Amino acid sequence: MQGTPDITLIGGGIMGLLSARELALAGLTVTVLERQKIGREASWAGGGIMLPLYPWRQDASITTLVNASLTLYPALTETLHGATGIDPEYLTSGLLITENPDYQAAQQWCQRNHTPVESAPESLLSRLNGPFDHPLWLPDIAQLRNPLFIKALTADLHAKKVTLIEDCVLQGVRCKNNRITVLTTSQGALPVNHLALTTGAWSGKLWQTLWPSAGPTTLKVQPLKGQMLIFDAPPGLLAPMILAGDRYLIPRKDGKILAGSTVEKMGFDKTTTTPAKAALTDFALNLLPDLKPWPITHHWAGLRPGSPNGIPIIGLHPTINNLSINCGHGRSGLIMAPASARLLTDLICQRTPIVDPNPYQLNAQTL
Ligand SMILES: Cc1cc2nc3c(=O)[nH]c(=O)nc-3n(C[C@H](O)[C@H](O)[C@H](O)COP(=O)(O)OP(=O)(O)OC[C@H]3O[C@@H](n4cnc5c(N)ncnc54)[C@H](O)[C@@H]3O)c2cc1C
Repeated sequence: MQGTPDITLIGGGIMGLLSARELALAGLTVTVLERQKIGREASWAGGGIMLPLYPWRQDASITTLVNASLTLYPALTETLHGATGIDPEYLTSGLLITENPDYQAAQQWCQRNHTPVESAPESLLSRLNGPFDHPLWLPDIAQLRNPLFIKALTADLHAKKVTLIEDCVLQGVRCKNNRITVLTTSQGALPVNHLALTTGAWSGKLWQTLWPSAGPTTLKVQPLKGQMLIFDAPPGLLAPMILAGDRYLIPRKDGKILAGSTVEKMGFDKTTTTPAKAALTDFALNLLPDLKPWPITHHWAGLRPGSPNGIPIIGLHPTINNLSINCGHGRSGLIMAPASARLLTDLICQRTPIVDPNPYQLNAQTL
């Protein structure tokens, strides 16, 4: 590493990588320290549906970040594809939601947020097993193939001279006069100008390690385990994404179909389990019987960064002058990432923020 970077980000998931890109575009020198390999945690494990599950049941501040991200994603993925040759497969495949007991709220949300909504096509419903309750077809909802997005983003960061250091764990900080002066890491002590934490599900635990005297006043971010399967289906078996209750199918461009996901409070345990595999398999085969001939080729788990009400925590620390944070995006971090990274950068660079920063600040509810 040459000199002390303007910004040191901890955590090389989508929040760390996109924040690093925004900060580099703002003209700052940036280093990302990653505990293991870049982009191999939640950001790799996720499904990539570009809509929170039932956003009308969630806090309005989530919709704000979603809408801001949706304005950025098409150009961002196109630029990354052009610059790196890696296609993140941002596809408008549409989303069918089979059961909508709160149909009115869903309709109103779609109307307010300019999201086209239509009655579900009979040709699609006839291939699926219900139950159906006011099924909704949202033809404009896109998906992202997140492992490819991370790959493209990483290549772009190398080209932008962002330093990415793997196998480097942040273990502690030294502070003086309300500033962090030194980071202690598994690769030794590093001087720091500004520290930004993008440590996903590990953020609450890390906070306790860094500031043990904070006692019960700690960052409220907890791991939420999610398990997922992939079927090796052929192209064309299913075109749109299907959301049924709390579970979904996501068909990729090459035909493979993801079935997800569980939500489990199991601490930092990422092991996959036989009951979860059976439950996800039953769900998928019952919903789409055409999947039966196709084998499951992979089963994995990731840890979502769960926060109070799923609202991410993005902002500058109120008293430590060179510390900021961008974490706690729960089940919707991929969709909220571009606007979250832009907001963090706006706050660090003292620019007009892309969205009102107040709902996401570190405050009494998150600390
Ligand atoms: C099964 C599943 C399905 C999902 N589906 C969707 C979806 O369809 N749409 C959607 O929008 N979102 C989805 N998500 C959520 C989304 O994946 C996450 O919200 C998002 O990836 C979080 O990104 P992150 O960068 O904050 O966390 P991560 O990707 O987990 O990155 C955090 C990084 O910090 C590193 N780190 C932690 N502590 C330290 C330390 N002390 N030192 C150095 N490095 C450290 C970790 O190793 C990790 O790489 C899903 C998640 C899962 C698990």
